[in-house]
Amino acid sequence: MTATRTPAARSKGATSALRLVPLREGMFKMPRSMNGKPRLLGQRCTSCGEQFSNQREFCANCCQPTLENVMFGTTGEITTYTTVRQQLPGALIEAPYVIARVRLDEGVSVQTILSEIEPDDVEIGMKVVSCLKQVTEDDSGNAVVNSFFKPANKRRRARA
Ligand SMILES: [Zn+2]
Repeated sequence: MTATRTPAARSKGATSALRLVPLREGMFKMPRSMNGKPRLLGQRCTSCGEQFSNQREFCANCCQPTLENVMFGTTGEITTYTTVRQQLPGALIEAPYVIARVRLDEGVSVQTILSEIEPDDVEIGMKVVSCLKQVTEDDSGNAVVNSFFKPANKRRRARA
């Protein structure tokens, strides 16, 4: 297999010159394109194997300073969630939206905002996959993006 660039993707007037800028550095590995899946960054304790979604000095399980940086996968399952209905001043995301706790396939839990789903359709146990969404743009017109999760499967409304 050879990777070929399609001319159509680089047509004039396309926004390919604009960069993807993370909302916060060090939270996830930026995919190559807007359609790519961001991978969340975290840590793993080399002494006991416990994993963490945030940066820390010592392992919260065994208290050793033996933490290495790891990159988690892109899929997981909703373990709990809450719906935000009030629009907060200065918030980059428009209410209503759902904040969910997602247990990644690696076993570590992360807090995230769900995308591409209505609050009423969210269910505990739902499989989700990471995605990139633009939340604003910077002074240069670059897309400022953040990692979100969306349903892994297209849902069809079976029930009437
Ligand atoms: Zn440990």
